[in-house]
Formats: sequence, structure tokens, C-alpha cells
Amino acid sequence: RSKAEARVDGSTGVKFCDVAGIDEAVEELQELVRYLKNPELFDKMGIKPPHGVLLEGPPGCGKTLVAKAIAGEAGVPFYQMAGSEFVEVLVGVGSARIRDLFKRAKMVYIVVFHVSISLENWWCQVNKPSVIFIDEIDALATRRQGIFKESSDQLYNAATQERETTLNQLLIELDGFDTGKGVIFLAATNRKDLLDPALLRPGRFDRKIRIRPPGAKGRLDILKIHASKVKMSDSVDLSSYAQNLPGWTGAKLAQLVQEAALVAVRKRHNSILQSDMDDAVDRLTVGPKRVGIELG
Ligand code: ATP
Repeated sequence: RSKAEARVDGSTGVKFCDVAGIDEAVEELQELVRYLKNPELFDKMGIKPPHGVLLEGPPGCGKTLVAKAIAGEAGVPFYQMAGSEFVEVLVGVGSARIRDLFKRAKMVYIVVFHVSISLENWWCQVNKPSVIFIDEIDALATRRQGIFKESSDQLYNAATQERETTLNQLLIELDGFDTGKGVIFLAATNRKDLLDPALLRPGRFDRKIRIRPPGAKGRLDILKIHASKVKMSDSVDLSSYAQNLPGWTGAKLAQLVQEAALVAVRKRHNSILQSDMDDAVDRLTVGPKRVGIELG
């Protein structure tokens, strides 16, 4: 039995209003939410939902966040695993995990089938949709040579073979995937160039969505989202940080606000001040200062 379990998030609680700076991608992904909310309608209209959706872009720009927001907006379970969790030297473990993951997402139908009472209820719930998400899919869909280079040839070959078996299982699941059932398969990667071409063939990942680093306006919107979760003084000029921190991703900006909150607590401020934000920028760019911040 596989030791890695998919993390199931009944309700991710994440919504599109928690995501900023990637408006184009969000607009494209709204369609998936409409589908997850009403797969029967799409089915009746003869509209085929995408088989798989690949989110690609640099780390920290919100790929996982937006995948969670899709499930959160639609109010459906979110099954998450990282590509590296499928990578095993032991024969058959990776492919068993792939099977498990898809089986668990589909199992919702069976469980619900047994507890339903009315016919109408049955129909709605049998089609209960879900989102399957595999982060860093490149870890399982490419041949990584680094780890096993030092090992014996036999071990290297076994690992390579195992990775291929796992990838094949994923292709089988994707091919046998009944898109009409309301299950959406999403994956994310920072390295689309490393992916096996078989995975990118039509009918597998039908939709590829680029998640780009935010521009100045996006950075401001992201800062506002994260500032709203902490006690930030109204006097802090967030737009100056958005303007002056080019290249900072959503993850880095979220970290900035958290760091500023910590600085404010250490300095016993009642809310985060501009000087706390400045300190936090310094700490994140040049590392913590030795002087200036007293603990306790
Ligand atoms: P990786 O490729 O490293 O997995 P990722 O693109 O999946 O990165 P996330 O894990 O979604 O990035 O981002 C980490 C955190 O950074 C999020 O939980 C969120 O707090 C913040 N964040 C990132 N992007 C955004 C965004 N576009 N809007 C708001 N917050 C963001």
C-alpha cells in the first residue's frame, strides 16, 4: 500500500478574490468553475470540458493558489499531491499512487450513492465533482538524472524504469478519464520544457495556462490582499512597494507582509508601520540586521 496519501481539502476556503496579478489566467479558469458547479448542463449542451489543465510559470506566482481557488469557488473537494511523491525506486509504488489518487477522487460517487435518499438528490450527488491537483508534475514526467548519477547502473535503470511506469499510469488515467463526470485534473510546473512530450499531446493537457509574475498593478493588488489579513496602518504607502520591488512574486510579497508583521510585534507597535515594512524589505533582500530589532 502506498504511504503517500493525497491531501484532501474538503473546502479549500480559497476564492478568486484571494488571487491577484494574474487576471487573464483567472478569467480563463472561471469557465472550469462554471463547469464544476454544473457539469450536467455542459453535458446536455454537448460541451466537452478540458481533459487536463496545465498551469505553468515561475515559482511563487500563484499556481497552487489559483488551483485551490477553483475548488473553493466551486465548493468541491481538492485532492492534492506533489509530483515528487510519486517518485520511488520501489517498483510499482509510483503508479499505485497515481491509481489511488484518481480512484479516491472518483470514489466520492460511490460513497454518496449509498447515503442518498431521493432520486433527485441521487442525481445531483452522483455527479459530485472534484479537483485533482498535481504540483511540480515535472518531477514525475521527466527523467531526472541528478539524484541517481552516483548510484550503480542497476539502481539508476530501476529508477528510470519506475519513473516511466508511473508516467505511463498517469497517461492511462488521463486517457481513461471521463470528463463528463465533473472531475477536473490540474497540474502545475515551473519547467514545461522538461515535460515528456506524450503528456502534452492533444487529449491529455488540452489547456495550458501561463501564470506570469505580477506587474506593478498586480503587485499592489497582491499587497492589498495580504495587508487585509494583518493589522496594517492606513499610513503605509503600499503602492511605493509595488513600484519599487520589480520581480517580486506573490509568494515574496506575502512573505514581506508577514515579515513586517513580525517586525511590528517585536517593536511593540500596535499596527504595521511604514518603517516596519522598510525593515522587512531589508531583511528579505539583504538578510536580518544584527542591530535594531530587539526580541522580547
Ligand atoms: P511553486 O511553483 O513554488 O509551487 P506557486 O506558483 O504554486 O509556486 P503558490 O504556492 O500558489 O505559488 O504561492 C505561495 C503563496 O504566495 C500563496 O499561498 C499566496 O499566499 C502567495 N501568492 C502567490 N501568488 C499570489 C497571487 N497571484 N495573489 C495572491 N497571493 C499570491
